[in-house]
Amino acid sequence: MIGPGFSATTVRTMRIQTTRARTGWWLVAVAVVVAAGLWVGSAAHGRSGNAARSEGARWLRDYLRIDTSNPPGREHRAAAFLADILHRERIPTRLLVTPDGRANLYARLPAHGEPVGGPLVLTHHMDVVPAGPGWSVEPFSGAVVDGRMWGRGAVDIKSLGIAQLATMVDLKRRGVSLARDLVFVGVADEETGGAQGMGWLIEQFPELFADVWAVYNEGGMGHAVGERVLWWEVEVAQKRPLWLRATTHGRGGHGSGFHPRSSVHKLIAGLDRLIAMPTQYRVTAPVRDFLGALAPYHGKRPKRIFSDLDRYIQPDGPTEPMLPGITNLFVDTIQVTVLEGSTAINVIPAEASALIDIRMLPDTDAEALLARVREALGERINVEVLVTSPPSPPSPRDHPAYRAIVTELGEIAPVVPSFMSGFTDSRHFRERGVPAYGLSPFALTAEDRMGIHSADEAISIERLDRGIERMIHIVETCVAR
Ligand SMILES: [Zn+2]
Repeated sequence: MIGPGFSATTVRTMRIQTTRARTGWWLVAVAVVVAAGLWVGSAAHGRSGNAARSEGARWLRDYLRIDTSNPPGREHRAAAFLADILHRERIPTRLLVTPDGRANLYARLPAHGEPVGGPLVLTHHMDVVPAGPGWSVEPFSGAVVDGRMWGRGAVDIKSLGIAQLATMVDLKRRGVSLARDLVFVGVADEETGGAQGMGWLIEQFPELFADVWAVYNEGGMGHAVGERVLWWEVEVAQKRPLWLRATTHGRGGHGSGFHPRSSVHKLIAGLDRLIAMPTQYRVTAPVRDFLGALAPYHGKRPKRIFSDLDRYIQPDGPTEPMLPGITNLFVDTIQVTVLEGSTAINVIPAEASALIDIRMLPDTDAEALLARVREALGERINVEVLVTSPPSPPSPRDHPAYRAIVTELGEIAPVVPSFMSGFTDSRHFRERGVPAYGLSPFALTAEDRMGIHSADEAISIERLDRGIERMIHIVETCVAR
């Protein structure tokens, strides 16, 4: 459902573009759409952030009501919703639709006069993971209960998108003189790898991302207990994907047959060798920095381990017991997640396959790891690489875009350069040498964090409003003259 105030102009324009885009990539419609919305002057809005405060919650509610579960995504309605808000502020947008009809939205506020350098990019993904079972409220209702707004995407990551949107709008309304361009991007398809989102955008439209100064994306968060923020994590490095499909072939037939070397049996034997591969542990620089920075805020035992990792992490494993979430930071993980064979118990399939989700540390040699995986699976198994990403260094901490975060958030709690075991669209920038920071202006409690990719995802409206103000301050520090 699209929120109120959705303009007919936008609907019409978007429909035309989507239809054209389906006819082929060379016809991808890239139009600059300026809606004839009314200019809302800045006089009605006082201190920075106040204007967005009430609007922010309303925008998030409407955004949460648009079901962008991926698959299939259907981000075009989310793009239209965001574009409509931008158009009302006379901020032009470009809708970029993939040949498969997946919508990505791009907007740019130009610098006033000669820019001092490349643009700052604010990006978030418009898609969400499917709601799944177990919700106490309708997951696409944007319901507000006890001061918290509920809905799939409330934390991951539509709230961040609204904070970025509110920042664009606020700077425009107040007529802040910009020293560099400010770019807003809402992308499709992040939750299933980003091939139809940022991966596609940056490949097809490199000119839109030429000379980028820095990127703010998802991946960070504040850790709160009640009202107290313990620390802020700003993500500067992450693991990289190596997603594989392993396929075997063999003679198909009746399940009653004698066929010990069937496709399924060969696959199982190969996978068994794969998961028996010894795990190799090592400490990488971004993890050493991350846990070292976290150490002071932990109890005696973790503090001791975090500040002396090289002593406790040996190649064959940690010398002290650790939580799985921590162990994960020292290894390339290999998870067999999907198995496909016959659909009937009495049919031997001619083909069987497995999907394997491998997550590599930042400096892992992907070719060498792939060679080990192929060797373990054996030569009768065909291995295809679905998604991967080259190594990239962590984003620097001596960059003004990182310092601006520390200046704002550091007043509340210490800022820690973090490493994440998942991956985000930031990798597309880092692998091109562009600094990208996982920045969330929201402090989340354990309860808030539990909703991510799970039932009952919700964010406190008060935290949302405060976060929007922080985002505005951080971005203003980066782009204002
Ligand atoms: Zn996300």
